[in-house]
Amino acid sequence: MIVLGIESTAHTFGVGIIEDRNVLANVKDAYTTESGGIIPSAAADHHVNACKQVLNDGLKKAGISMKDIDLIAFSQGPGIGNTLEVGAVAARTLSITYGIPIIGVNHCVAHLEVGNLCTDAKDPVLLYCSGANTQVIAFEGGRYRVFGETLDIGIGNFLDSVAREMGLGFPGGPKIYELSLKSKNYIELPYVVKGMDVSFGGIFTNVKSKLQKHSKEDLAYSIQETVFAMMLEVAERAMAHCNKSKLLLGGGVACNKRFQEMAHKMCKQREGTCFIPPSEFLLDNGGMIAWLGYIVAKAGNKMNIEDTSIRPYERTDDIDVNWR
Ligand code: AMP
Ligand code: MG
Repeated sequence: MIVLGIESTAHTFGVGIIEDRNVLANVKDAYTTESGGIIPSAAADHHVNACKQVLNDGLKKAGISMKDIDLIAFSQGPGIGNTLEVGAVAARTLSITYGIPIIGVNHCVAHLEVGNLCTDAKDPVLLYCSGANTQVIAFEGGRYRVFGETLDIGIGNFLDSVAREMGLGFPGGPKIYELSLKSKNYIELPYVVKGMDVSFGGIFTNVKSKLQKHSKEDLAYSIQETVFAMMLEVAERAMAHCNKSKLLLGGGVACNKRFQEMAHKMCKQREGTCFIPPSEFLLDNGGMIAWLGYIVAKAGNKMNIEDTSIRPYERTDDIDVNWR
């Protein structure tokens, strides 16, 4: 079965093509800025302009044409309404034009399930650290249950907001990482873990107040040490409560080498294992959408065009996981 996946929840317009477990193509074009954050309408315009080229690149890379596709999967939610709509319209148009079945899937669940495609992590605790989403998740009782999450902004949005204040542009996470390598001077920052949840708004305000007094390098280093430790504290507690020894990282922030190092260390200390998919599957991508479409459809799930409205606020634990 050949599945085409379309991703458009935020900054990235991605097309992935898979044939069963084989990834034939995973291409994308991402919206970036020199100094600001994401402007929803500008990101949507970017996707409209990128759509045709990315689709053609994907088909060319896979060495197939639209008539070879058996299923079109797209990110139905959660995400930015403007950008979700572009992917949904593209998916519906292709579905109707070529008479190919369509299925909408949950973007967060795709970040989780792609771990099963790329790694040997069986039944892990998932630490999902993306731009807008920050959750500790485990599969219990037929659903991906959220054990802890951010009470305000996502960890990636937090890093992007700090980067914007520093005038570094979007996406900010990689830029903060580069700066962090130039310091080992820890500046005390608020450490905000509330039970199993985390919060970044207060840290952001605190960092803003320190921007004039401290170097960007010292702040970048201190920010990473603080927020990654917060995430790994709640992930470790979830592993202990759920009696699971495996941790799987997901989301774009998990590309961060320091975060990966700290996650490996925590797992090693408790005799567990940390699994990390390759970066192309950590950041938003069409391949993970195609993969989730594939396993959802294999389990007998279907959708009509009338069911394909976008779901900007859909939650991970709303999804009835009937494919495992
Ligand atoms: P996603 O929404 O999953 O595609 O992830 C995008 C987020 O990941 C953005 O907020 C980026 O700033 C962040 N990000 C990407 N690469 C890195 C990195 N190396 N370190 C920290 N954050 C990163
Ligand atoms: Mg994402």
